[in-house]
Amino acid sequence: MESVKVVPLGKPIPPLSYLTERAAPGDLVLVPIRDRVAYGLVIGVGSESRRLRRIRRIVIKRFIPEDLLRTIFWMADYYLAPIDVAIRMAIPRLILPRTAFPSLIREYGEGPVPNRWQRHAIDKIGAAIKSRTHQIFLLYGVTGSGKTEVYINLIQKALRMGMGAIFLYPEIGLTPLYRDRFQRRFPSLVLHSGLNQKTRRSHWHALREGVFPVGIGPRSAIFAPIPKLGLIIVDEEHSTSYKEEFRPPRYHAREVAIARGRFASCPVVLGSATPAVETYYHAVCGRIHLIRLPQRVKHRPLPVVRLVDLRRVKQQPITPCLKRELDRSVSRGEQAIIFINRKGYAPVLICPECGFTPRCPGCDIPLVYYRKEEILRCPYCNYNEPIGPVCPRCHHPRWRMIGMGTERIEEQLRRLFGDKVVRFDRSRVIRDLERIYLQFQNRDRLLMVGTSLVTKGHDFPKVTLVGVINGDQILNLPDFRAGEYTFQVLTQVAGRAGRGRRPGRVIIQTHRPDHPIFQSIKEQSYERFYQEEIIRRKELGYPPFSRLILIRLRGPSLPELLRIGIEIKNKIPEILGPVPSFRRKIGGNHQLIMLLKVDGKDGRLKDLIGKDSRLAVDVDPITTI
Ligand SMILES: [Zn+2]
Ligand SMILES: [Zn+2]
Repeated sequence: MESVKVVPLGKPIPPLSYLTERAAPGDLVLVPIRDRVAYGLVIGVGSESRRLRRIRRIVIKRFIPEDLLRTIFWMADYYLAPIDVAIRMAIPRLILPRTAFPSLIREYGEGPVPNRWQRHAIDKIGAAIKSRTHQIFLLYGVTGSGKTEVYINLIQKALRMGMGAIFLYPEIGLTPLYRDRFQRRFPSLVLHSGLNQKTRRSHWHALREGVFPVGIGPRSAIFAPIPKLGLIIVDEEHSTSYKEEFRPPRYHAREVAIARGRFASCPVVLGSATPAVETYYHAVCGRIHLIRLPQRVKHRPLPVVRLVDLRRVKQQPITPCLKRELDRSVSRGEQAIIFINRKGYAPVLICPECGFTPRCPGCDIPLVYYRKEEILRCPYCNYNEPIGPVCPRCHHPRWRMIGMGTERIEEQLRRLFGDKVVRFDRSRVIRDLERIYLQFQNRDRLLMVGTSLVTKGHDFPKVTLVGVINGDQILNLPDFRAGEYTFQVLTQVAGRAGRGRRPGRVIIQTHRPDHPIFQSIKEQSYERFYQEEIIRRKELGYPPFSRLILIRLRGPSLPELLRIGIEIKNKIPEILGPVPSFRRKIGGNHQLIMLLKVDGKDGRLKDLIGKDSRLAVDVDPITTI
């Protein structure tokens, strides 16, 4: 009799061994755990000879496809997480066998005829789908170049060959956008954590049994149990939303997608107008095939970008130049988006008398003032308190407000343009967002103030002007990726302008107009940005020239954290830190960070995993602050 290793699903229990005759890796089994039974996934064959209990029964043979199981093993290994933690990340909490499937629509519409560039991309990637070879493609197309239509054609190709596909988009909030567009063209189901348990289970099984061959969704949809996977697409591959930051394994869905494509021997398509520096580097080196979509569809021109030097203009935040362009748009009945990367009214309040600033008690950073709700809220932990009428320290009756958030910009624009203005940010509830979105789409409103939420994939054909209130917000962060993120966010925002018949204009306000990043944005030249960035990365030994592993130490006692940090340092002398994080405190806990640059794997780190809940290991962190 053989033994097998089983990971109980749902409960945080490490793998257990059982005796069995027929169970194999990937099977769903029912096993006794103490005096109960639970579902578990067989992950491997063991060789233990001590007395073991037997599995009760095999519930479903080959419950998950082999390529998915291998991907999960890869993920646990690469991201330094225990295998059972990785399994529970990938397979949603208790998937009871089978429920009713959603019903299938049989009528699917036709799309537009692809242009020459789209055709080329479809043929080239299509050949890899047909030959079932694992190749990675970067579909690098400027904003508005018609990438989505290429994706749809490729998925249809895979379906015609009897294979399934996975499509990832960066944000759960974009679900309606992709779902509606895709479901008109082929059978697909969404898979994400926002679905209720019943729907999620029903979708999961419909995908597993191949009733619906295409799984789409944000990050975690990469674990969709598609049986005959023939294609994986990661749209907006540069997006930081693909990184799981909070729970181990702290995986990046793009990297997991590449691993899964390897195990399933199918092509992986990464799409972006502003590829991650690492991705583009691999394309330049030839590890990834580069396919360009160099033109906007119907030859629409890219918008013209103008920089406004904030050091020379008194009138802020709506500078005369921006005001003039807004006037022009409004008088023509065209639409504009005004981008500011901060929510609330004012990021910082100061008492003009004694200098007191209200801070979050847990995170020790200034609380953001929200005027509509009359509250102060912490941007990290969501702690909030009502704003008092006077300074609690000296009873001065007024506050000085420093900086700008969406609410304040909205107020200033309303003074100029009345009720033509709407605000779109995450401080609003979903229902409000949908209403505002529709108002703007139907052109009941002309000006939209928003955070990066407005930059994500939306297509408003009547937007001809984009204004960026302060382009320096991200660039000023002490992070080696600050330049890359600035370029990506501002290029995406700029890309919202001029997607319809009229050409677009973009105004970016900055204190550093000579900074190379802004020059690259002005020229809308990803290549220029990349050439400068890659030299800097090489000099400093940052990715893609090294791998980073970040260790965060978080806990209430600073001396305790330092002690853990020094223990790590004794084992790995070249590790940097421990130093206080840029966010020194979070939710009442102190935070220290340690950073290690490695070339390949480092066995010494394995010893750190799962030992101490105050210690989090982040492989390939997207931020080091
Ligand atoms: Zn005061
Ligand atoms: Zn806080």
